[in-house]
Amino acid sequence: ETYIRIRGVHKTYPDGTAALEPINLDVQHGEVLVLLGPSGCGKSTLLRIMAGLEKSSGGSINVNGVEINHLLPEKRDIGLVFQQYALFPTMTVAQNIAFGMKLRKKSKQEIAVKVQEMLELMNLQELKDRRPSQLSGGQQQRVAVARALATEPKILLMDEPLTALDAKLKEYLRIELAQLFRKLNITTIYVTHDQVEAMAIADRIAVMDKGVVRQIGTPKEVYHQP
Ligand code: ADP
Ligand code: ADP
Repeated sequence: ETYIRIRGVHKTYPDGTAALEPINLDVQHGEVLVLLGPSGCGKSTLLRIMAGLEKSSGGSINVNGVEINHLLPEKRDIGLVFQQYALFPTMTVAQNIAFGMKLRKKSKQEIAVKVQEMLELMNLQELKDRRPSQLSGGQQQRVAVARALATEPKILLMDEPLTALDAKLKEYLRIELAQLFRKLNITTIYVTHDQVEAMAIADRIAVMDKGVVRQIGTPKEVYHQP
C-alpha cells in the first residue's frame, strides 16, 4: 500500500545548481526505502525537501492522502536523524528525548511514560542522566533515534546516520537499526552512500545519480541481476 507518493519533485538552487531532476517515487507503508548514491547526487536535497527544511522548485509530496509539500516542518509529523547527532549539549539523555514532546505540550505523565519506553527501546536506561559529551558516537546516535521516535512520527527520515561512526560502532548500530526497523514497522527513508549499509537495512533501494533515480528495487533485484 503506497504511503508516500512523490511526483515531479525537482530542485534548482538559487545559484543555478540543478540538484534534482523531477523525481517520482512511491514508498510503501512500513517499508525502509534507502536512497543510495554518490556524494552530490541529490539524496540530502530530496530528504530535506521531504522534511520541509528546503523548498522544492515544484512537484507534489503526498503522505497518506495529504499534500505536505507546502506545510511547515513542524506540521509534517516527521522524525529526523542526521549524520551529526545534533543533540542538545546541556540536556541529559532523558531531556533530549523529551524535548519534542515538551514542544508539543504533552502532559508530564505522558512524557515520562514515553521517555521510559524510548530508553528501553534503544537500550539507554543506564545512560539517561548523562549528557551527550559523556556518550560514545554510537550512543549519541541511539539517543538521536530515540528523540526522533518519541513524538510518534508517521515517517522517519535518516540522513547518513552511521557515517560519523568508526567501523566497529557502525556495524553494531547497523545491526541494531535493522532490528529496530523490523520491530517498529515505521515508514522510513534512509540516505546513505554506502552500498553494504543499504543492502543490510533496505526493503528497497532507490539508486540515485546526478539528481535522477536510476533504478529501484529490493537489494536482490538491484544487485543480483542475471
Ligand atoms: P548528496 O546528499 O547526495 O550528497 P546533495 O543533495 O547534498 O547531495 O547535493 C546535490 C547537489 O546540490 C550537489 O551538486 C550540491 O553541491 C548541490 N547543493 C546542495 N546544497 C546546496 C545549496 N544550498 N546551494 C547550492 N547547491 C547546493
Ligand atoms: P550532505 O552531502 O549531507 O548535503 P555536505 O557536507 O555536502 O552534506 O553539505 C553540508 C551543507 O552544505 C548542506 O546543508 C548543504 O545544503 C550545503 N551545501 C552543500 N553543497 C553546497 C553548495 N555547492 N553550495 C552551498 N551549500 C552547499
